[in-house]
Amino acid sequence: MKGSLLYEGKAKKVYHVTDNDNQLVLSYKNDATAFNGKKKDSFEGKGRLNNLITSRVFEYLNQQHIPSHFIEALNETEQLVQKTTIIPLEVVVRNVAAGSLTRRLAIQEKTKLQPPIIELFYKKDELDDPLINDDHAKLLAGVTEHELDQIKIEALKINEVLKGLFLQAGLTLVDFKLEFGRFDDNTIVLADEISPDTCRLWDVETGEKMDKDVFRESIGNLIEVYETILQRLEEKLCTK
Ligand code: ADP
Ligand code: UDP
Repeated sequence: MKGSLLYEGKAKKVYHVTDNDNQLVLSYKNDATAFNGKKKDSFEGKGRLNNLITSRVFEYLNQQHIPSHFIEALNETEQLVQKTTIIPLEVVVRNVAAGSLTRRLAIQEKTKLQPPIIELFYKKDELDDPLINDDHAKLLAGVTEHELDQIKIEALKINEVLKGLFLQAGLTLVDFKLEFGRFDDNTIVLADEISPDTCRLWDVETGEKMDKDVFRESIGNLIEVYETILQRLEEKLCTK
């Protein structure tokens, strides 16, 4: 069923599906990269954790009527998705100031952002994914004004759903990155992954960082932290 390799990225390999041109297999790797690939390492079990966490999150979004590319988890490290043409935008939603926002605009870390802030980055490794505005996005990512509005509305809706989910798991959703893709009929849906690699998650009680910042800042055991996220999500999603 899994066909030839279509693309190898920093965190996943993307495979064709032999009997279906409209589907892909995403295979999660153990590699971790930060600062646009300048910091690199590999952690046994990370691919499994991100695949299982992303699968749980997308299943939950699907139950909440958020359309996406996700079909099903195939095994511990791989998932089956609908093939899309990815829109080259990283749509970042922020509920609390952290990361590049604090550095770029000298906003104190932990400052609450209400309403949430949406930022667009151009997904282009050669340029280190620069921050862009709506006009740049329309030019570079081939989206219309209306589509961009729809993407932002959807991103805020996803934020509300995810904030609720993670809060039940004792986690504050600080910020996260989304990618959207197009089907052949031009419909735009949520794609890629939602995991501790792409979200900042802080323990509600202790404020402890429970995401890729553990790796970025070398402040703990990434596998232990990701395992805790998976366990907490599974507890919450199973008791519903
Ligand atoms: P990167 O390309 O940034 O290194 P990854 O290692 O996560 O990222 O590679 C996975 C690639 O698969 C990304 O480029 C992502 O945009 C792409 N992708 C995710 N979901 C889909 C999909 N449904 N259809 C097509 N491409 C997808
Ligand atoms: N993010 C991501 N991929 C990227 C850049 C950012 O998943 O290529 C996520 C990151 O994990 C965080 C949010 O988007 O949850 C905002 O990231 P930020 O702009 O603060 O950049 P960082 O400081 O993490 O490089």
